[in-house]
Amino acid sequence: MGINIKIRKDNLYKEHVYIIGVYISGNKLENDLSPYSLEFILKNNVNVYKFKKKTLFNKVVDADVLKYSYKGRCCLKNINTYYENIKLNLKKHTIEDFAIEIKCRDRKEKSIFQIQTKCIVNEESWVQKRKENGDFFICSDKQLLCRVVPTYTIVKKRLDGIFQRKIPSIKVYISSSYDIMYDILNKLPAPGADAFANDNCIFIISEFGKIKKSKICHELCHIFINNQIKGKSLIDIKLVEGVCECISEQFILEEGTISLRKKCAIAFDVLNINTCNILLKELDNIKKNSDTYSLVTYNIVPYIVKMIINQIGLDGLLNRIRKNKTLKEVITNTFNGFEKFWTILQESLMEEINVREYNELYAQIIMKQYENIMEDISQDAYSKLKIKFKNIYELLNKEEYILVKKELTEF
Ligand SMILES: [Zn+2]
Repeated sequence: MGINIKIRKDNLYKEHVYIIGVYISGNKLENDLSPYSLEFILKNNVNVYKFKKKTLFNKVVDADVLKYSYKGRCCLKNINTYYENIKLNLKKHTIEDFAIEIKCRDRKEKSIFQIQTKCIVNEESWVQKRKENGDFFICSDKQLLCRVVPTYTIVKKRLDGIFQRKIPSIKVYISSSYDIMYDILNKLPAPGADAFANDNCIFIISEFGKIKKSKICHELCHIFINNQIKGKSLIDIKLVEGVCECISEQFILEEGTISLRKKCAIAFDVLNINTCNILLKELDNIKKNSDTYSLVTYNIVPYIVKMIINQIGLDGLLNRIRKNKTLKEVITNTFNGFEKFWTILQESLMEEINVREYNELYAQIIMKQYENIMEDISQDAYSKLKIKFKNIYELLNKEEYILVKKELTEF
C-alpha cells in the first residue's frame, strides 16, 4: 500500500485554511468502505490539535482500473487510488511549525497505517480574470490562465455562430491536477475523463499545461445544448454527447487527431461487425456506466450523429432532442428504417483502412500500463506515469505509429 500526505494552503480560501490531502493506493482498497477512519493530530511545543474524521472514503478521486478484454486476450488489474482532502481552519494559527500525525483505521478499528510528518506547506495561488462579456476564468496557475483565455475566445466565437444564440456568461475552471480541482468542487469528471460541464460552468483538468480547443468546445456545447433543452428530463444523453463530439470535430482534426469516422471504424474492429449490429439495434437499452456504453457513446455514436446532421441539419436534430426522441428513433426516422441506415454506415466505414495497426498498438499500450502501474505506487510516480501514457495515447491518436513503437520499446 502506498501512502502520501500533502499539505496545501491556497488563496481561494479565506486565511488559515489548509488542505491536507491523503493519497493511498493499493489493491486492498477495492472496497469503498475500507479504510474507515482518519485522525489528524497537529502538534508543536505549545499546542496539540486533534481532528478526527469518520470517513467512508467515498470521495474516490482517482481509480485506475485497467480492464482489458479484447479479441481473445484478457487482463484485469485494479489499482485503486484514493484522496481524502481535509480542510483545516486553524483561525489565528498557522501550521508551519507543527508536526502532523495521521492515523488511519479500518471499520474494526484495526490500524491500517500511522504516519508522522513535519508540516511543509505548499502555497497554491489561483488566478482569476473576468472578461467584459461576463465570462469568468479561475485557473490554478498563471500560465494556464494566459493560455486558456485566447483559446476559449476562439472556440466560443465559433460556437456563437453555429448555435446562433447567445448564452449567459460562463465560469471556466481550469486546474493543473485532479486533487486541486477536488478541493474546490468536491467533485470530479467521470473516471477516464478530464473535463465536465455543469450549469453554466465548465471544468477542465490540464495535467501538463495543454489546453485543447476540442475539449473546451465539447464542454461549451453541453452548455449551449442545456440552455436550449432546459427543463427536459428524458433526454437521450447519447445524442447530446454525439452532438458535442460532432461539433468539436473541426478542432479535433486541427489538433491532428483521428476523424470521427476513423474512430468509429476502430470501434467496429474491436467489437466486430455482428456485435455492433446487435448493439445498435439495442441502442435504447444499453446500460449507463457499462463498458459498452462509453465505447458506443464516445466512439460510435458521434459518427452516426454526424450522418444524421448531414441529413436533417443541426437544428433538425436539436428539435428532435427537445421532443425527447431517442437516438434509435432519430436513426430510424432519418434513414427510413434501421436496415437502410446499417447499409449506409457499413459502406461508409469500409473506406477506412489501417485500423488494425491502431488496435494492435492500443493493446500493446494497455499491456505496458498493466506492467508498470504497481499496486503500491506513490502519488508522484503515478502522476508521472499517467502523463507518459497520456502522451503515448495522443501519439497513437495522431497515427504516429513509428513514434508509438519507439516509446513502447524505451520503457
Ligand atoms: Zn460530454
